[in-house]
Amino acid sequence: MITYSKILDLAKRALKTPGTYHAQWFLTSRCNYRCKGCSVWRERNYEELSTEEVKRGLDILRNIGVLEIVFSGGNPLLRDDIGEILKYASRYFITTVYDNGSMAINKIDELRYADFVAISLDTLDEKKNDYMKGVDGAWRRAMEAIRILNDEGVNVGVSPTISQINLYEIIDLTKYFTSLGIPVWYCLYTYDYQPGRGIFSIGKENYEYEITDYKTLATICDTLIEMKVRNPYIFITRKTLEAVKYLALTGKRIWRCKAFRNFLVVDHLGRVSGCHCREPITTIFNLPRIWRSSYMRMLRKELNKCTNCIYLCYIFYSVHDGLTGILEITLDQWKSIKHVYKRLRTQI
Ligand code: SF4
Ligand code: SF4
Repeated sequence: MITYSKILDLAKRALKTPGTYHAQWFLTSRCNYRCKGCSVWRERNYEELSTEEVKRGLDILRNIGVLEIVFSGGNPLLRDDIGEILKYASRYFITTVYDNGSMAINKIDELRYADFVAISLDTLDEKKNDYMKGVDGAWRRAMEAIRILNDEGVNVGVSPTISQINLYEIIDLTKYFTSLGIPVWYCLYTYDYQPGRGIFSIGKENYEYEITDYKTLATICDTLIEMKVRNPYIFITRKTLEAVKYLALTGKRIWRCKAFRNFLVVDHLGRVSGCHCREPITTIFNLPRIWRSSYMRMLRKELNKCTNCIYLCYIFYSVHDGLTGILEITLDQWKSIKHVYKRLRTQI
């Protein structure tokens, strides 16, 4: 839960170590869905870190300056200890957990520990959504989960992945949920450039999903920028949208990748990498030993030149760099922060 003391602690840590402020932890590779643009569920690796190991890893992330953590998978809610992990993490980090909409209703008490719960839902079209998720009833379950979590006072948001298949529906989906006071934040379809080589293979090549209408993608960015002025439920910054728009129109990037500088990822086995597309370089437990080494400095420089993916979260944490980046996000999202805080106060 976001409290004054947590905000103060986050601010102090940001000033002390203006380095990696975002971590994504793929807590499990188990998943009960079969999404067409995903390859995680194919891996079927059931090994995972224990609860105590995850907690130890979280302490390490806190010490190296991580402020925000996202738990995903697989479906992290398939872990029996997810409540304990969220409770532990949310003491120190802005904590978000993902669900495909299938598990959240049965884990409401556990989810109250998270600052945000993201339900992935790609379209308002029931049939299309179920086709994309590879499971009948996925849309109905996700819609029900969003409604119930919202009624229960959990900070639930909707997280669509923008792809060619739902490109023309993104604005309507945004309008629909934000008019109900439910935030929306986005992913952008892409796939791993070397599947099997990275820490995890998330994206899967899918021609149906690959964006071909870049002009519309740019128009969506413009529309969201315009909507954001009055709508506090759109959780993406203007600067990120401008970067995506520029990429869509010119094929060029206005950012350099900040993997291992502003963000890192941890997988279900505790292996660490700058992003999930890259090979793991160490384990979370060994990370403090090498974090400030010349090897890491060299690696950061190398990743800085990489242009191999357009995963939106990595763009976001690259365009907003360091302490200035944190300030930019805070200013851009000020209305949203005020909204979240007001809501939390009514729950206390
Ligand atoms: S996208 Fe998420 S919900 Fe869908 S199969 Fe992959 S891990 Fe599971
Ligand atoms: S651009 Fe950055 S986030 Fe994307 S694959 Fe390269 S190192 Fe990873």
